Amino acid sequence: MEEPVSQSDNQQQSGRSVLVTGGNRGIGLAIAQAYAANGDRVAVTHRGSGAPDGLFAVQCDVTDAESVDAAFAEIEDKQGPVEILVSNAGITDDTLLLRMKEDQFTGVLDANLTGSYRVAKRAASKMLRARWGRLIFIGSVVGLMGGPGQVNYAASKAGMVGMARSIARELGSRGITANVIAPGFVRTDMTAELGEDRQQQILGQVPLGRYAEASEVADVAVFLGSDAAGYITGAVIPVDGGLGMGH
Ligand code: NDP
Repeated sequence: MEEPVSQSDNQQQSGRSVLVTGGNRGIGLAIAQAYAANGDRVAVTHRGSGAPDGLFAVQCDVTDAESVDAAFAEIEDKQGPVEILVSNAGITDDTLLLRMKEDQFTGVLDANLTGSYRVAKRAASKMLRARWGRLIFIGSVVGLMGGPGQVNYAASKAGMVGMARSIARELGSRGITANVIAPGFVRTDMTAELGEDRQQQILGQVPLGRYAEASEVADVAVFLGSDAAGYITGAVIPVDGGLGMGH
């Protein structure tokens, strides 16, 4: 008699082709390492730093569609079409609205939001053929709460929610899911740029009273790529210590 497939067997599904943009450091690196530990074939992008230890890396700037296309071609050659895309690459360029120059606004939108559109579009064409795919966007709690000095960044992350939900509606019938993870405060190079006062101010509003580990965001990213998350799409999943209270 055939063994029934247990829930935990389902969750262990591995061997997928995964791409994490900006997976050379910070949260992206933690996500890439978690997928690799799960037994998946993982590629990360970098913009000149080279490959992190033990991971396959391609050079890619998500603000450049040709660079995105070339990176995907290289990844497809090495590990097959991308089945799980984690759009993680992102930047901040904080200042108050009245001081924010137009290129500071458009630059952050281009990297964070249009960059996500570029990689999602490129990945989705192959996912459609496979009739299976997972698009995971790394948003931010700030996308839904706003943040002083982050008009550009918050707009880019809020835009990701509308984008992911539209993709979820367009591609759901083809076995493709699209979800957003909204981390709160994770200690990385990005948050090191915030002043000590601002860091303490943010921490004061976090019910769990601490920063997130990058691995805590990575665990959710791996879950969203697993078969156990097959019925989740169009969702925004907070990993923020309660800062956004579930949005
Ligand atoms: P880091 O600043 O540590 O890393 C940013 C990553 O994005 C780097 O790998 C960087 O590559 C890459 N990147 C930036 N611009 C581009 C580009 N144009 N093309 C390709 N890659 C690019 O950030 P975090 O790890 O902290 O953040 C990762 C994601 O998580 C971001 O989207 C961020 O908005 C989001 N996030 C972070 C939070 C936090 O508290 N840290 C909270 C909520 C969301 P390179 O090394 O070449 O510069």
